[in-house]
Amino acid sequence: MPELPEVETVRRGLEAHVAGRTIDTAEVLHPRAVRRHLPGPADFAAVARGGTISAARRRGKYLWLPVGEDALLAHLGMSGQLLVGDPDRPLSPHVRARFTFTDGGPDLRFSDQRTFGHLVWSPGGAVLPPLIAHIAPDPLEDAFDEAALIARLRQRRTGLKRALLDQSLVSGIGNIYADEALWRARLHWARATDTLSRAEAARALDAVREVLLAALQSGGTSFDSLYVNVNGESGYFSRSLCVYGRAGEPCPRCGAPIVRDPFMNRSSYSCPHCQPRPRSTRYHGDLRYRST
Ligand SMILES: [Zn+2]
Repeated sequence: MPELPEVETVRRGLEAHVAGRTIDTAEVLHPRAVRRHLPGPADFAAVARGGTISAARRRGKYLWLPVGEDALLAHLGMSGQLLVGDPDRPLSPHVRARFTFTDGGPDLRFSDQRTFGHLVWSPGGAVLPPLIAHIAPDPLEDAFDEAALIARLRQRRTGLKRALLDQSLVSGIGNIYADEALWRARLHWARATDTLSRAEAARALDAVREVLLAALQSGGTSFDSLYVNVNGESGYFSRSLCVYGRAGEPCPRCGAPIVRDPFMNRSSYSCPHCQPRPRSTRYHGDLRYRST
């Protein structure tokens, strides 16, 4: 599943290759791709036609292309890709929607093998689509307010990792980057947020930003000059992961074997030495399970 750094890579590619261009035709090749566009595929194609894309924006894992006061909003889901390329290249069977431009240049294709992603036209959504207004800014956005988030975190009565994954507090942090950031900050995932000092909360958020930026910098695999691409399996994860998916392997900092705990139907990976387990488990049903 694409995480924030990959989606930001796509945003940059879209900004470079489609901003400033006018949509000539919009074709919906699979109705599921626009299932959240309630007026239907024909309406989607009609409203997109003739619009000039002014930029490419992102919040968390959502991307949008402002067109006048409106926006074309995209979520890549599990396997979605936005591809820019030669308009005459063959159409892959996974392409769900295609946009051509009045300049006759490279087209934009939304390809999505598993069809969990979607596109929607957002009236009035140029600055921030109303559909995603409930999602908090992510740590790489200008709108991100670290001091305010530290205060909100410390008022919450929940576990630290649950809070980092809560899109109403902060967006764009997935399971992998949460584990990596908490390891870097030397904080346990189940730590109660209302026991965090201001400095600890700041350390967690700084670590999140560092991990996301490091992934973004090494994420060049998914982008080359013309093709804007995203691939949830892209290789830079495995090269740079310190704890995620490494149960039983030595912690890169202290050598203690990494442990895996069940967490919200997934897993949390941490170092038992660098990230001591909190004594209080009052908000954390997950801790009643034994580590493996
Ligand atoms: Zn360690």
